[in-house]
Amino acid sequence: MSMDEFIKTLTEEQKQALLRALSGGDFKSEVSEDTEDSARWLHEEPVSKAVDGDFSMKKNIKPRRSIVQAGENTWVDEGEDRHIKTPDIKRTPRNRSAPKMREVKCSACGKVSKINAGLVFGEYYRCERCIGG
Ligand SMILES: [Zn+2]
Repeated sequence: MSMDEFIKTLTEEQKQALLRALSGGDFKSEVSEDTEDSARWLHEEPVSKAVDGDFSMKKNIKPRRSIVQAGENTWVDEGEDRHIKTPDIKRTPRNRSAPKMREVKCSACGKVSKINAGLVFGEYYRCERCIGG
């Protein structure tokens, strides 16, 4: 495609943008400004408009230490809410059965102890002292 043919494919708007770009202005078309579409992205971080190919890391680190300043205390003592009463209800009965204990003999030291049956696994039980060392 020759340059003439290429230019014929452009709309008037695109030609304007191309001219601006060639003359060193920014690429943004005047028409696209303040349209609904551009307003949609206003909350986004601004992206640098001209990409100059320089992707080097810019040292732009703000100092981390800053003085902490307390704001004004806005708490107001409104007194006790005495009109609110704890409802008089029946307590939930604590009727869970006692844990099932089982007598086990330590396979290492021979000490007999009672432990929760749910904690006994396998044939060779070891007491607390024998597990530790
Ligand atoms: Zn033991």
